Amino acid sequence: MEAADFIVIGAGIAGASVGYELSLGGKVVVLEMESSAGYHSTGRSAAVMSENYGPALWSRLVTSSRGFLETPPDGFTDVPLITPRGALFLARKEEQAQLFNQADELLRRGASIKVTTAEEALRYCPVLRASEFVSALYEPDCKDIDTNALLAGYLKGLRVRGGHFVPDAKVESLAHSGGVWTVTTPRGVFEAPVIVNAAGGWVQQIAALAGLSYRNVIPFRRTAVVFDPPAGSEIHTWPMTFDVAETFYFKPEAGRIMVSPVDMAPSDPCDAQADELEVAIAIDRIHRYTTMEVQRVTHKWGGLRTFAPDHEPVIGRDPEQPSFIWLAGQGGNGVMAGAAAARLAASFALNAPIPADIAALGITAEKVSPGRACVIDPAADAPVVGTIEAFE
Ligand SMILES: Cc1cc2nc3c(=O)[nH]c(=O)nc-3n(C[C@H](O)[C@H](O)[C@H](O)COP(=O)(O)OP(=O)(O)OC[C@H]3O[C@@H](n4cnc5c(N)ncnc54)[C@H](O)[C@@H]3O)c2cc1C
Repeated sequence: MEAADFIVIGAGIAGASVGYELSLGGKVVVLEMESSAGYHSTGRSAAVMSENYGPALWSRLVTSSRGFLETPPDGFTDVPLITPRGALFLARKEEQAQLFNQADELLRRGASIKVTTAEEALRYCPVLRASEFVSALYEPDCKDIDTNALLAGYLKGLRVRGGHFVPDAKVESLAHSGGVWTVTTPRGVFEAPVIVNAAGGWVQQIAALAGLSYRNVIPFRRTAVVFDPPAGSEIHTWPMTFDVAETFYFKPEAGRIMVSPVDMAPSDPCDAQADELEVAIAIDRIHRYTTMEVQRVTHKWGGLRTFAPDHEPVIGRDPEQPSFIWLAGQGGNGVMAGAAAARLAASFALNAPIPADIAALGITAEKVSPGRACVIDPAADAPVVGTIEAFE
């Protein structure tokens, strides 16, 4: 039996980052069912950071994470965690109001942006079929994230601070008695007064093992496809390009182009695979919205993105068991917003105030609570969609 102050379940970006933060406050054990960290969602992302991506509270956590990614602590990494990419958001006529709202919100948060015509956006991405769109928002400070370096930095920091990362340690049972959690895995038994549930697509299963109520935080599959770019094109300067309606995005990826049809199919937690129909849709979107021709798919993959009904963070103490902390519902923001989300989750585990910079963005314990309206309504026998007030 190994005793600790905190047990973190899952070693994706969520578990590794909160393990790192908590290891300043006590002994941390991070348990991972796979033989290496980051095998599931974290290793399958598009690896970008955009302050214009995701729902309101998640995108604010991206803003709070920027400083860490730009200037990580000494010794965290030998390589830059982020490198320039830029992002382009394209709007059709009927999506222009949404684009302008996004621009206003970004300006309020101090992000630098440029709103331009679709025609002028060809300057950033020359293969667009500009006639399909009317206007564009360019976000120069969107970055590529070196996810491997970020994950490795967190796990190295955890180790340096006395924490213990345990792979091949699938949590099989969880029991709470006398103020202590006992966690059983094939790698042994672990005990701690506080658990952090950072199990990505599996967070509901972990809560069920702990005997806690269903919170409706569930995974959805997304497909990614990689193909060779047009011969001779200087793709490395192209931005990550989205449409505001969220029907596709594409970006340069190690000398090739990655595209996603931004599919969102409910899934069981699993080793997600690319969906063949979605691969075809991705290729069709490239042909429709750009002048590129997909001749050969070189690589494709599937990954899980886990959401609460309102798509906002599920971070905080379980309402039935305050020593069980959720760090979940990251959707498409888990890597880019992970640094701030980890500090937020750690504040709940440590019974400390929410970090001031995060609170200043209007994030309160109530707004991200696992106890907000995300439970199954027994009367209706259907999920109740949570409501988060718009950020004033
Ligand atoms: C195609 C795609 C593109 C994306 N693009 C971006 C992007 O550009 N930027 C961005 O920020 N985000 C992006 N995301 C989202 C991002 O990948 C996720 O939000 C993030 O990785 C979630 O991290 P996590 O640690 O919660 O989950 P995971 O990485 O899945 O980690 C959870 C871990 O828990 C472990 N686990 C589960 N059950 C148990 C158990 N019983 N015992 C022990 N361990 C267990 C799992 O093995 C897993 O390693 C993308 C996702 C996809 C699929």
